[in-house]
Amino acid sequence: MCIFCKIIAGEIPSKKAYEDNDILAFYDINPQAPVHILVIPKAHIPSVDAIDSTNSAIVAKIFETIPEIAKAAGITNGYRVISNCGDDACQTVKHLHFHILGGKQLSETMA
Ligand code: 5GP
Ligand code: ZN
Repeated sequence: MCIFCKIIAGEIPSKKAYEDNDILAFYDINPQAPVHILVIPKAHIPSVDAIDSTNSAIVAKIFETIPEIAKAAGITNGYRVISNCGDDACQTVKHLHFHILGGKQLSETMA
């Protein structure tokens, strides 16, 4: 089981920000901004590169829920959503996740 599947199963503790039947959001253990939340599908999808017509509904649901998660976390002045995909992007956990970063003025650079 991957580390995020273990978090979903409750085998590894996390500070939850949002949960429903399909989605879990929890605070990143190594925050890169005052608010740093990871949003993941409960189904194991390895990365953005594995999104297709069979599983994209959960991705749509994640993006429908992100505004609610950001607002509930106290973000009021914008945020960045990032998904690292594959080795060149430094994806370290091979379970699809979207970083929500906010709570400060973020860098203009993306890469
Ligand atoms: P990636 O580098 O794959 O885009 O992002 C993985 C993220 O998962 C990193 O920001 C890292 O800090 C976070 N992370 C890794 N292991 C854990 C964990 O056990 N708990 C939490 N809350 N975050 C984790
Ligand atoms: Zn997984």
